[in-house]
Amino acid sequence: MAATIIDGKQLSAKKRSELAIEVEQIKAKGLVPKLVVILVGDNPASLSYIRGKQKASEEIGVGFKLEHFPETLTEEELLAIIDDYNNNNEYHGILVQLPLPKHINETAVVEKISPLKDVDGFHPINIGRMMTGQDTFLPCTPAGIVEMIKSVGVEIAGKNVVVVGRSNIVGKPVGQLLLNEHATVTYCHSKTNNLSSYTKEADILVAAVGRANFIKGQDIKPGAVVIDVGVNRLDTGKLCGDVVFEEAKEVASYVTPVPGGVGPMTITMLAHNTVQSAKNFLEKA
Ligand code: NDP
Repeated sequence: MAATIIDGKQLSAKKRSELAIEVEQIKAKGLVPKLVVILVGDNPASLSYIRGKQKASEEIGVGFKLEHFPETLTEEELLAIIDDYNNNNEYHGILVQLPLPKHINETAVVEKISPLKDVDGFHPINIGRMMTGQDTFLPCTPAGIVEMIKSVGVEIAGKNVVVVGRSNIVGKPVGQLLLNEHATVTYCHSKTNNLSSYTKEADILVAAVGRANFIKGQDIKPGAVVIDVGVNRLDTGKLCGDVVFEEAKEVASYVTPVPGGVGPMTITMLAHNTVQSAKNFLEKA
């Protein structure tokens, strides 16, 4: 039987309408949640991701400002701009769009953002809180993945999870969040020997590699839940994931499509974090 598609667009629409209600409630208490996105340079992929973030913010009623600087902005200037927003009470979320130009140290930038406004969930303090299971801003892609799995009623506790990829923004944190949900987690990466011997044992398989059609049907355990994080552009211009979707559909129980899967949920979780931040500010006021 063909797998059920976990529709990220549909789940996002539902979550966004719930967030819109929360935003109304926050506004009724006199606070307008606001997000600032800082972009350095003109990376076309970044511009497209930012358009998605703006659309989601507008959809739920969150104020959105884009601060767009030329490639020549220095690290010192960027750190000073972040500091201004850290101290600006009108903004509850600060996001610096990555990647940054090579002359700017990404770690220094991420660490400069106040952990209280770090709606991307990349600050080491928030990552530490996530690892120790505390309430915090969770990184958006991993948090969206957990929501997607839960949305179809799949029990995570006790499951064998295999994450292919160990980046700081996707692979590592998604494994950690699923561990927090009591899964048994294995990480695979470019130095893993005999990768498919691991993937074939996964009840939940997360592919975050960045290689088109990397995971084939034969690498998937029958009945597995397959989450495809990859976004790869083919020579034809078409987007595709890390998983051969048509093959996965024949083997898995659930599979996420690309586009329309993890991508929309990532943006929705950013909106969620911004609303959460505004609520935190309101509580403190
Ligand atoms: P990175 O390039 O930072 O990480 C890729 C990971 O894949 C690395 O850990 C790498 O291993 C591993 N890898 C590479 N080649 C192999 C291989 N042959 N076998 C096993 N593992 C391998 O990418 P990201 O984590 O940032 O992103 C992954 C994908 O997800 C990309 O396509 C990206 O565009 C997409 N993405 C999608 C998002 C969304 O919202 N939908 C959000 C963020 C990312 P090693 O560590 O050993 O190098």
